[in-house]
Amino acid sequence: MKLRNFQSKIHAIDPDAEFKEVDACAVRCSSCTRWVQMRALYDVRSFTVHRQSGRCQSSQRTNLVSNTTGIYLFDVSKMSLLT
Ligand SMILES: [Zn+2]
Repeated sequence: MKLRNFQSKIHAIDPDAEFKEVDACAVRCSSCTRWVQMRALYDVRSFTVHRQSGRCQSSQRTNLVSNTTGIYLFDVSKMSLLT
């Protein structure tokens, strides 16, 4: 019951997060594929902090660089500078 509640809270932050069957404190972050260790059982704060941390954000940013929308926006701003 408590574990389900914890997992649904994690999924609200990261819908693709994975859990270890043998270790309820371990959650895998889908954006940087790192295993995040919770400080306390059923405590989602460690995961929230991880998602806002530089280690996780830099991995997310790598994905955005290859995003075509980012390149498009860059080209638009470059064009406005020329006119
Ligand atoms: Zn992460």
